[in-house]
Amino acid sequence: MSSAKSVHCLTHVDAQLQVDFIGYLQRLLVEGDFVATYKFALLHALADICIERPLDTFNNEMGLSHEQGHNVITIDELVEKFIELYWQHSLPYSGAVTATNAPQTAFILLQNSGRQSALIKNLAEYRSQGITSLSQLKQHPDWRKLVSKTRTTFKDGPLWRLQLLAGSEVCFYYPHDKTQSFIALNPGIAFCFRRFHDLVVSLARTHWTQKVGNFPLNHTAIGGQGNLAEFLFGRDRNAITTARPVLFDIQQGQCFYCQKSLNETGEVDHFIPWARYPNDLGHNFVLAHSKCNNAKRDHLAAELHKERWFEQNIIQHNHTISTELGRYFVCESGRTEAIATWAYQLASQNQSPLWLKGKHFETLAPKTADLNMQ
Ligand SMILES: [Zn+2]
Repeated sequence: MSSAKSVHCLTHVDAQLQVDFIGYLQRLLVEGDFVATYKFALLHALADICIERPLDTFNNEMGLSHEQGHNVITIDELVEKFIELYWQHSLPYSGAVTATNAPQTAFILLQNSGRQSALIKNLAEYRSQGITSLSQLKQHPDWRKLVSKTRTTFKDGPLWRLQLLAGSEVCFYYPHDKTQSFIALNPGIAFCFRRFHDLVVSLARTHWTQKVGNFPLNHTAIGGQGNLAEFLFGRDRNAITTARPVLFDIQQGQCFYCQKSLNETGEVDHFIPWARYPNDLGHNFVLAHSKCNNAKRDHLAAELHKERWFEQNIIQHNHTISTELGRYFVCESGRTEAIATWAYQLASQNQSPLWLKGKHFETLAPKTADLNMQ
């Protein structure tokens, strides 16, 4: 039954195209000319944007026809995503504190083989001014200026180089039209990025981490110690606890999932699990018993939980969450809603079980809307 369904879904975007998408990704990582980490960031950014934008935006942007607008991503959207991805990397690396030979000084890891990248230098400069989170950076009066500066680097660098394979342009994702302020993804590409988001992101992160680890000047700082991947892409477990009192109030001291009283401090849970979308968005947090949280693990929650989450975090307490957590986390309800829509569409398409309570699961009924994932 499930195979019949997936065959049905595949017909929407040609199965061959999906295989080609994976093949191209493999070629890109092997044959691409990656002297810096910028191209991994661009790949990551493309995949993220395809799941973070409400589908309507794809349709209405830039006054293009439905068919064209579907796949348009503005260069500034990519640039902003790019800055988001590098923000964490502008912190001094502290993984090697136990090394005995070299005295440990704060060292910001290089992102290319020569000098430090201009973007990292800029971000470190904002950090030195006391900006401690991405959400604060986005509210800084110089934010647009930073975007504008980064845009230049971005266009000189990865945007028109990502698709150079063994020295030749192979424009599988988007044509190289340098006259526009946007890129237009080729038909079916947005669908594939949505379908294979976890694969693309985990490959981009793995190769990015290897690249950073291989730059000679980074060797002393890394020194075989610490967890580089965790530093570059890990979650900040301390920051997440700042959400606890806010959620405790919103949920009136009850566990989000079982609605029983939290007679303990409770755990902050990523409603759309970290394993599926590894970013901290303020609206994606709920507070739960550790027992409930552990039972849910990396599963998506059942539809009744999703409805309650939507009502609580996106409708009723949207403003409170943005105000109270906006200092620490990116709080964009539209983006979080888009992520939830994407995650549930994929679950329905893959017939993934949804966690209800304890050891109980339910399966999403296939919906016709899933056929329009692109
Ligand atoms: Zn509970």
